[in-house]
Amino acid sequence: DAPVLRKPSWIRVKAPGGEGYEATRRIVKEHRLATVCEEAGCPNVGECWSQGHATMMIMGEICTRGCTFCNVATGRPEALDAFEPARVADAVAKLGLSHVVITSVDRDDLEDGGAEHFARTIRALRRKAPDTTIEILTPDFLKCGPEALEMVVEARPDVFNHNLETVPGLYPEVRPGARYFHSLRLLQRVKELDPTIFTKSGIMVGLGEERAAVHQVMDDMRSADVDFLTIGQYLQPTRKHHAVAKFVEPAEFAAYERAAWGKGFLMVSATPLTRSSYHAGEDFARLREA
Ligand code: SF4
Ligand code: SF4
Repeated sequence: DAPVLRKPSWIRVKAPGGEGYEATRRIVKEHRLATVCEEAGCPNVGECWSQGHATMMIMGEICTRGCTFCNVATGRPEALDAFEPARVADAVAKLGLSHVVITSVDRDDLEDGGAEHFARTIRALRRKAPDTTIEILTPDFLKCGPEALEMVVEARPDVFNHNLETVPGLYPEVRPGARYFHSLRLLQRVKELDPTIFTKSGIMVGLGEERAAVHQVMDDMRSADVDFLTIGQYLQPTRKHHAVAKFVEPAEFAAYERAAWGKGFLMVSATPLTRSSYHAGEDFARLREA
């Protein structure tokens, strides 16, 4: 195992607890939902759940990929649960969310990669929680035909998020099952299919990337018409996962953020604790008011 770097002071977070947190936990449990907040051991869980913000993870808790930064189990997933879209929609209605983020494991075992299940979840949410804006964070549909992505876009989420996760040079060791240019093209295709949908992507830093490569990724995203950008510090879930190469200082994050605004993103979040779904609702609401 690689040596573990000590977490700097700006990474420490409060332990979760309190009334709001417990209420969210109860609703998630009652509806038998998986959340990326728990699966990823997200450091923001205390803050997010106390406000009812949980990011649901659909299509099971077992992934067909084995990204080296990710804490989700790899293996052969279970069959899809046809009742899951309704349960997700019920939970979101109960949580009273103005904005929800729905993500999933990767399902290379399914012909459509789970596209139809995503579309059904979006439609169920529209019925049960019509005032909630919907952000989806999808897999790359690498092994599917173009109709998979089209099916998801046709269900019209408000925000389509697909994370590039890291710079292209680190793909073989960080995201071995994925292809950088495929993921980039996927984001561009969403915009081509429906320009009214906001597109979003993000990367983690601290995996060993060069600064210039991060700037190149931002440029690539803008040339694929990506609207929103998130950049956060990679944290190692266990010692078996990819090592943290560096804790990027807050000032460096601020420099990335300034550069990103300059490149024309509509929304940028770049802080050590930024996650794809962190404050996603507030950021989106602010943008819609502007
Ligand atoms: Fe969950 Fe996202 Fe908040 Fe983390 S940042 S606790 S994953 S909603
Ligand atoms: Fe984790 Fe997503 Fe990679 Fe699966 S595809 S291992 S859920 S990051």
